[in-house]
Amino acid sequence: MTRGRVVVIGGGVAGTAAALHCCDAGFEVTVLEARPRLGGVAGSFRRGERMIDTGQHVFLRCYSSYAALLRRLGVFDSVRIQPRFRVPVVAPGGRGWLLRRGRLPAPAHLLPALLGHRALTWRQRSAALRTALALRRLDPHDPALDEIGFAEWLRARREPERTVQVLWGMLIVAALNAEPRQVSLAMAVKVFRTGVLDTVTGGDIGIPQRPLGELHDFPARRALAAAGATVRLRAKALSVQQADQSLRVTVGTRGEEELDADAVVVAVPHAAAAKLLDPLALPEADRWSRLSSAPIVNVHVHYDRPVTDLEFAAAIDSPVQWVFDRTAAAGIDQGQYLVVSLSAAHEYLTARTKDLRERFLPALRDLFPRAHRAEVLDFFVTREPAATFLPKPGVRALRPETRTGVPGLVLAGAWTDTGWPDTLEGAVSSGHRAAEIVDLATSTDYRVAWR
Ligand SMILES: Cc1cc2nc3c(=O)[nH]c(=O)nc-3n(C[C@H](O)[C@H](O)[C@H](O)COP(=O)(O)OP(=O)(O)OC[C@H]3O[C@@H](n4cnc5c(N)ncnc54)[C@H](O)[C@@H]3O)c2cc1C
Repeated sequence: MTRGRVVVIGGGVAGTAAALHCCDAGFEVTVLEARPRLGGVAGSFRRGERMIDTGQHVFLRCYSSYAALLRRLGVFDSVRIQPRFRVPVVAPGGRGWLLRRGRLPAPAHLLPALLGHRALTWRQRSAALRTALALRRLDPHDPALDEIGFAEWLRARREPERTVQVLWGMLIVAALNAEPRQVSLAMAVKVFRTGVLDTVTGGDIGIPQRPLGELHDFPARRALAAAGATVRLRAKALSVQQADQSLRVTVGTRGEEELDADAVVVAVPHAAAAKLLDPLALPEADRWSRLSSAPIVNVHVHYDRPVTDLEFAAAIDSPVQWVFDRTAAAGIDQGQYLVVSLSAAHEYLTARTKDLRERFLPALRDLFPRAHRAEVLDFFVTREPAATFLPKPGVRALRPETRTGVPGLVLAGAWTDTGWPDTLEGAVSSGHRAAEIVDLATSTDYRVAWR
């Protein structure tokens, strides 16, 4: 006996988490995924013999829901979380130093990181310390903070442009995929407080040691099958409509199939959700269709020999933002394979690969002088035009709740109102929240519970 039929549309990490949770709660679950694989934007593709990630991903120790998903998928041993927050910073001329946390209680654990930032003068470092303490006193849930820009707030505190660039910007561009001037103060507070200010260990960085497909695709298919779900790949949902007491999902390029369900979890990106749910004319869809997106571009370089000993690094005074050694993760045994991750990458999105080569190979040589002697075996670029939503001031009011006005219809995805930026953690927690609402709505009197 099942508790009812649930269709989950979208097999990214949000949809995977929602589907597993619904199976555990006793529902009969079907996952519809338009692509030939699960994992959504956190996935891999084949290039020759290799599995290549569409974009470098990292996570933090404070991502508890994401870590729980990896454990459920049986792949937690395929990621490595550093024992202590430690970010190597590299600068042109082969200069470099470490931003690391200490052993003192929060926030004093950050003293070595802030006071050791050699790109800043001592005066700038102590001002940055005061700014960190001020950020820690702000409440990320305060709606007023969502109306203010982070850069505007930093300016009001008289943080010099240099500190904004090489400290706050270096972290926020990677975490929020936007420049400090483009992000809401509330989102910045969420990132800094949850990530590095509130707890000693929360900001320790986790890095996948395998291609993302080996984390989020095959293991997810296996776990869903074991939990009793039906996973349908290359199955694009066209629309969701109300039908008597249930919801009807139309599937296939020409809508050749219809599936009836007691509940539908829509776990697709916001633009796709607006299209899918158009027949239902949800009033809240007007708001979320105003969410905008930002691109991430990754530049991939395979050298014939190692050019750096660092596993990853943040770069300053360089077009390179963050660079990762992915040699072992990609199973490459000759030379070194580096991935340069470029967030808020509007200027690179439409640039020709040839132009990016001319820009990034010299920049990498400036950072890693050993690259002068290395030959480039392969160079390619991956582009995600709508990688994340843009967390600009006012974004909170645009992000929808999980529950919609239509009984049985729930939303999931990193873009919903999770309190997190567009992250793996936000996505997975949105999936669980969606399943909880499905569970609640079908466990008591269905329609009463919905209201
Ligand atoms: C390049 C890049 C780098 C990133 N780096 C990080 C990082 O370092 N750390 C971090 O925490 N986050 C990072 N993110 C963000 C993170 O990947 C996302 O927040 C998260 O993966 C979103 O998951 P999701 O399930 O909500 O959505 P998605 O992954 O977008 O999944 C939605 C799924 O729905 C499917 N779909 C769409 N329409 C339909 C339809 N009509 N029918 C059926 N299926 C449909 C899509 O094919 C897709 O598989 C990065 C994102 C990108 C793109």
